[in-house]
Amino acid sequence: MAEDQGRRAFLRLAAAAGGAGLLSSCSRDSGTSAAGGSASGTASTATATAEGAASGVRAAAPGAARSPSPADWAALGRDLSGPLVRPGESSYTVSKRLFDPRFDSLHPAGIAYCRNPHDVATCLAFVRKFGLPVAARCGGHSYAGWSSGSGLVIDVTRMSGVNVSGSTATVGAGTRLIDFYNGLAAHGRGVPGGSCPTVGIAGLTLGGGVGVVSRAYGLTSDNVKSLQIVTADGQVRTCNSSQNSDLFWACRGGGGGNFGVVTSFTFGTHPVGQIVLFFLSWPWSQAARVISAWQSWAPHAPDALWSNVHLAAAPGGSVPSIQVGGTFLGSLGAAAAQLEKLYAAAGSHPSSPFMETTSWLHAMLVEAGCASLTVNQCHLPTQNPAGKLARASEYAKSDFFTKPLSSHGIGTLLAGVESFQRAGGAPGASGGIAFDALGGAVNRVSPGATAFVHRNALFQAQYTTTWPVGAAAAAVARQHGWQQSFWQSMRPFASGQAYQNYVDPALANWRQAYYGANLARLTQVKAKYDPNRVFRFPQAI
Ligand SMILES: Cc1cc2nc3c(=O)[nH]c(=O)nc-3n(C[C@H](O)[C@H](O)[C@H](O)COP(=O)(O)OP(=O)(O)OC[C@H]3O[C@@H](n4cnc5c(N)ncnc54)[C@H](O)[C@@H]3O)c2cc1C
Repeated sequence: MAEDQGRRAFLRLAAAAGGAGLLSSCSRDSGTSAAGGSASGTASTATATAEGAASGVRAAAPGAARSPSPADWAALGRDLSGPLVRPGESSYTVSKRLFDPRFDSLHPAGIAYCRNPHDVATCLAFVRKFGLPVAARCGGHSYAGWSSGSGLVIDVTRMSGVNVSGSTATVGAGTRLIDFYNGLAAHGRGVPGGSCPTVGIAGLTLGGGVGVVSRAYGLTSDNVKSLQIVTADGQVRTCNSSQNSDLFWACRGGGGGNFGVVTSFTFGTHPVGQIVLFFLSWPWSQAARVISAWQSWAPHAPDALWSNVHLAAAPGGSVPSIQVGGTFLGSLGAAAAQLEKLYAAAGSHPSSPFMETTSWLHAMLVEAGCASLTVNQCHLPTQNPAGKLARASEYAKSDFFTKPLSSHGIGTLLAGVESFQRAGGAPGASGGIAFDALGGAVNRVSPGATAFVHRNALFQAQYTTTWPVGAAAAAVARQHGWQQSFWQSMRPFASGQAYQNYVDPALANWRQAYYGANLARLTQVKAKYDPNRVFRFPQAI
């Protein structure tokens, strides 16, 4: 009985935390509906219209003869082995959706569900001929909607699946994270990746990929051995340390959508078995001491230990929350010994500590916010008939921290979170920040070894604010304003680097922030493989 209660409490805490992972918006209690259609008249629509104008929408290339006629589109459809969905067709409304309903007002001219690299090359010949905007799409989680636009969307989700051979796995570029984990776990293998189950492996890997075992096994991109990509000229290229090695370098952290359309990845994998999960919470009155303790403990812990700390507030007068979650590759006893060091530094024990050893796959489900769901259920209903997840809206910004926060920095941080309570957000909204511990295997790779330059940070942060479908546009705008000023208040303490997978249209110096010293080499690779800038979006290299 007591054990059952403990288990239920564990699942409740895990669900509330969205796993120990970065974001809770993948969990099914987000209040949004996958079948909800476009959020007409809501904040979602208002925002998407403005951002859609900036995302992937551009004039036909100079020299393009004419716009494609209906007959040209029909010919493209015949040339593809996968379906091409056009405006007016019954499946168009669902086909054009991204994960965030903010982008429902985007209207691509076509969505091509490519089944193989040849289909991708055919699409690229079409967009070159007519000078159409083009965007690759995998999981559709781009924070700026840059996997859609006004032109042709090349969707790679029909190229999915995990094929394990010994210690390597070849993975279709359209595989979603939960299917990635499931396919690998069936062979007792794992690769580090993100928490959200519906994020696509392509977008995640191309921008890095930070996950709950990254301190032990590195970024997702650090585990890529080889990949196949169709470049702007329609050539299918294999990239690894000996073939197209410059492109291979760029595709490990250079960011999605920049160099071509990736069709598959080959990963090195790790043997996996049981893993410890933990979730801890303290009263808000202890928050300053917990942050201070966490930041000197988490980035310097053994590689086997990964953790994050999540501070969140809701509109109104309630007290914000602070939770630490994480994973440990080892025994429950060894995990407990590590956590005691955190408690000692914080000067108090958490009010409700939960720790459990579980299977690797179940841990990935818990981290995904799918603690009590099956793998099939851990999808959107449009992706799997059993799917129980819902789409969700969110604004995100990021930072990397290379120095611990001073007491002034911690005070600013807590004041920023608390101010969300007075920010005039929508009912049911949330605002906060999650810090993910780095160090370990991530920082042992040199900044120039791959395009992912951020190799000296102690932790990264994601500032987020979410709201339910139907929230008033004015309230959402206030939440957005709160997020911008919270991020602004942290400038004196952050490194100035930002995570290229949390694309941020408001970031003025994004080139330096995402790529730092690797920018020059990335620009050369772009000029070599996409000289006419077929792949373009507001923050394209
Ligand atoms: C709810 C949520 C949770 C997240 N959790 C994590 C996390 O735990 N860890 C982490 O590191 N990140 C996380 N992210 C960030 C995530 O890694 C990025 O948003 C990533 O770009 C999403 O990839 P996608 O394939 O799902 O998105 P998409 O929108 O399909 O693609 C993102 C970008 O990659 C391009 N792209 C897509 N497919 C291809 C392809 N085959 N070839 C070339 N370019 C392509 C697109 O054009 C677009 O520019 C999260 C994001 C969200 C919204």
